[in-house]
Amino acid sequence: METFISDGTNDEWVVIKEDMREWIKELSHMLNEKDISSRISLASGCSPGTCGSTFLLLVAKKDVQEALANIEEYYIFLHPEIGKSQEWVAQGRCPACGHHVGMNPKECSDCGLPFIIEEA
Ligand SMILES: [Zn+2]
Repeated sequence: METFISDGTNDEWVVIKEDMREWIKELSHMLNEKDISSRISLASGCSPGTCGSTFLLLVAKKDVQEALANIEEYYIFLHPEIGKSQEWVAQGRCPACGHHVGMNPKECSDCGLPFIIEEA
């Protein structure tokens, strides 16, 4: 159920996502519900055997910021643990269980999750 706008418009279309077909279709549908027009296109330059698996999501140039913000919001809505994990890491906590691990831990003393922390 993609909505394709006729080619008579002067809008400039910008690729904002390249991903698997189902995910691109889902994002396109979500954006349409937010009244942001989007287009789906096949990724160009695909190698033999991979054609048809990767799709591009395009929106009008004026909608890029809003579309990206909506996608980020949607992603966190679908995967709330990701937003939470980022918050935990920023607080010096284990992203898996939330245990406070302090500065520069090698692993979580609670759940055993190994950390690889890159020094800035
Ligand atoms: Zn842990």
